[in-house]
Amino acid sequence: MLTVESLRFAYPSGPSIVESLSERFVPGQMVGITGPSGRGKSTLLYLLGLMLTPTSGRILLDGKSVAGLRDAERARLRARQFGFVFQDAALDATRTVLDNVLETALYRGESRRALSPTALALLDRFGVSLRVHAKPGQVSGGQAQRIALARALLLQPRVLLCDEPTGNLDPASTDIVLDALREHASSGGVVVVVTHDQAVVAHCDREVRL
Ligand code: ADP
Ligand code: MG
Repeated sequence: MLTVESLRFAYPSGPSIVESLSERFVPGQMVGITGPSGRGKSTLLYLLGLMLTPTSGRILLDGKSVAGLRDAERARLRARQFGFVFQDAALDATRTVLDNVLETALYRGESRRALSPTALALLDRFGVSLRVHAKPGQVSGGQAQRIALARALLLQPRVLLCDEPTGNLDPASTDIVLDALREHASSGGVVVVVTHDQAVVAHCDREVRL
């Protein structure tokens, strides 16, 4: 379980963006985070993903306070327990699609040979299997989002955080992504998804409005 207690955050010399937020993100549940542009949805997701440190308050993973850990420990925790889909996909332009999906796993010391079939199966499921030898510059925005989701799901993270993962998708691809998120929650994952899309909100168990 991922919990935040009295979470507050401001960028240096900026106003408070997250103000005294307390929430529980429970395994098995898909939680939607909504709110107007610029309200702090991405910032909250970076906090949950241990990429930003709260100004005050706590972030707990299974009861253990994790926000104050040293950078190296947070990085290790992120690689082992978290999957993150950035709003702009954030693929590495110098690597192939397949290598992008394998990236975090290789960082963790997993074997390329063991994980390639899983990576290819995920890409196939998400409808981007024909593009595995392409570089990210050659795929569309919607394909990049699905590649980023395949990367985030590869190691079956306990916590899956997605920033507008269906922003560039047609309804059929949105359904494929929603099915994958739901399946991840059903298998015991914590799923948090930032979205503007009412179709996505409708599939969530709970909505947190910022
Ligand atoms: P949302 O995802 O809801 O659109 P963001 O979390 O991206 O909102 O941004 C919330 C606010 O924080 C915005 O006013 C934005 O300009 C500001 N902001 C975002 N990133 C930074 C940063 N790195 N430094 C300073 N301010 C930032
Ligand atoms: Mg955002």
